[in-house]
Amino acid sequence: MIDLMDEAKKLEETIIEHRRYLHQYPELGMDLPITTSYVKEKLIEMGYEPKEICDSGIVTTVGGKKPGKTFLLRADMDALPIEETLDLPYKSKTENMHACGHDFHTAMLLGAAEILKKHEDEINGTVKLMFQPGEEIFTGAKTMIENGLLENPKVDAAVMIHVRPGVDAQPGTVIGTSALEGAAASDQFTITVQGKGGHGAMPDTTVDPLNVAAHLHIALQEINAREVHPSEFMVLTVGQIHGGNAANIIPDTATLSGTIRTYKSDIREFVKKRLVEVSNGVASTFRASVDVEFSKGCPSVLNDKELLSDLNEYLYKLLGDEGYFNASDFPELHLERMSGSEDFAYISEKVPSVMLRLAVGRLEDGYTYPQHHPMVTFDERALYKGAGVYASVAMEWLRNN
Ligand SMILES: [Zn+2]
Ligand SMILES: [Zn+2]
Repeated sequence: MIDLMDEAKKLEETIIEHRRYLHQYPELGMDLPITTSYVKEKLIEMGYEPKEICDSGIVTTVGGKKPGKTFLLRADMDALPIEETLDLPYKSKTENMHACGHDFHTAMLLGAAEILKKHEDEINGTVKLMFQPGEEIFTGAKTMIENGLLENPKVDAAVMIHVRPGVDAQPGTVIGTSALEGAAASDQFTITVQGKGGHGAMPDTTVDPLNVAAHLHIALQEINAREVHPSEFMVLTVGQIHGGNAANIIPDTATLSGTIRTYKSDIREFVKKRLVEVSNGVASTFRASVDVEFSKGCPSVLNDKELLSDLNEYLYKLLGDEGYFNASDFPELHLERMSGSEDFAYISEKVPSVMLRLAVGRLEDGYTYPQHHPMVTFDERALYKGAGVYASVAMEWLRNN
């Protein structure tokens, strides 16, 4: 097993520096000017020739001196519109926050890039490094694929790592899995209820959209509770209900919006279909009408069986019981399949792919906040390990394939 962990350890300070810089300048979506200029500058310093294949989407390669296949390593770089409330010395200087840990991913891949460059002559094939924008809005990976990400050279396999705080394991422990379902498909929906507004004292002259919204909110639970087999994974959450702006006015409209998470495409289609049917049925019962819109869809991440078993074997050899565990062996931790989503899904549809996770903070050490929370924080001791895993796994896979 190729073991580059000692080299990663030597770069620990540099990787922490990358992370802290990125953490201070979080940017959103497909427009990451500060982040991408930092990443490009660092890559050029290491001897790379990074290319921006679409807005804020960077690709570069290393190796290619020995014949072989191409292995893709992916990091996402975008942040979230959350104001950071924890007073860290490297606290965000903008109104955005790296609350999902994508600053970790980018810093880890920069670390791996530096290690791989030193071993360029020994790589059996090519490692392609992908730094993507727009993961949180599910558009970055798709846009990069449309702009040639997987061609020239053609990618044969791909791996990503996502950090996960609040796991009872040493920081930097890799969480593998044997489950082929990596992350759930996501669909956002907005239901607009059209009623008929009027005076709060004369409800008989109106069609009350708030009444419809209330019934609809309850009725949608029917799909989770009674229409999908209990062993199937699905989540349907209404996260927003809006309507009205005065106590004595019945408004004209109300909206409900939320998210659906599924793994299987037939379940995904069924839930969307039933959401429309239930919405129409409830609305017509109360003389209103609805308009249902779906947006921000993303398929599920599918781990490739063979690549997954190869990687589980490499990671165990590399890290042992101390640094690696298979989530499938500990179902009570619910780490096996994610109810979160990942736009790496689009890559997993095209090439054999695996999604790995990295423990970045134990509960007992105070890493208690979940991702996307304004007070979430991550244990930096995991950073170099993530870089070492990226580099070692890529070189080992290319050597064996
Ligand atoms: Zn996120
Ligand atoms: Zn994320």
